[in-house]
Amino acid sequence: PAKPIQIKVVLLGEAAVGKSSLVLRFVNDEFQENKEPTIGAAFLTQKVRLDDSVLKLDIWDTAGQERFHSLAPMYYRNAQAAVVVYDITRASSLDRAKAWIKELQRQANPNIVIALVGNKLDLVAENDNEEEEISEDHEDNGGDGDGKTRQIATETARAYADELGLLFVETSAKSGQGVVEVFTEVAKKLDLS
Ligand code: GDP
Ligand code: MG
Repeated sequence: PAKPIQIKVVLLGEAAVGKSSLVLRFVNDEFQENKEPTIGAAFLTQKVRLDDSVLKLDIWDTAGQERFHSLAPMYYRNAQAAVVVYDITRASSLDRAKAWIKELQRQANPNIVIALVGNKLDLVAENDNEEEEISEDHEDNGGDGDGKTRQIATETARAYADELGLLFVETSAKSGQGVVEVFTEVAKKLDLS
C-alpha cells in the first residue's frame, strides 16, 4: 500500500484559547477542564481519511505565551497548514490571531492553508443568537467567572476569513463540535499534487 501522505500542521494563537484542547479532542477524543499550559511545543499525529487518500497530520501545538514567540517560525516554517485559534469570548484573542495570520502571510510557505478557528462555542451556545447585539462595554471581558458572553460575532470573523481566503470554523474542544471539521477541511484544501 502507498505510504500515507505526511502533512505538517501548526497550531498558533493566544495562550489559553484552547489550542492544546482542540488537538487533544481531535487526536484522543478527550477534554481536560484544567489543561496545563504548553511549554515550548507539543507534537502529536493523527490520520485523516479523504475520499481516495489517507493523510497523516504531524501536528505541532505551540505555546501561546509571548516569551515563546521567537520559537514560532521554527514550527510554521515548512508547515503546509496552520490552524490559528481565538476564543470567541475574548476579543483580544482575535487581534492576536490576525497578527499571527499576517506573520504567516509574510513569512510562511506562500501556499500554506490557513484555518481561522473560533473556539469555546459551548460557553455561549445556550443563548447564542446571531441577531443579538454584542455590547462592546459588557462587564464580562472574558475574565474569571462563569458567565461568559460572546465577544466576537460569527459574521465578523467569517467576513475577515473570507476576505483573506482562509477557512473558518467555530468549535468547542469541550463538546467536540466542529473539531474534526477543522482538520478535514484543511486536508481537503491542501494541494497534494
Ligand atoms: P492553549 O493555551 O491555547 O493550548 O489552551 P488550552 O487547551 O490549554 O486551554 C485553556 C483552558 O481553556 C483550559 O482550562 C481548557 O480546559 C479550556 N478550554 C479549552 N477549550 C475549551 C472549550 O472549547 N470550551 C471550554 N469551555 N473550555 C475550553
Ligand atoms: Mg497549549
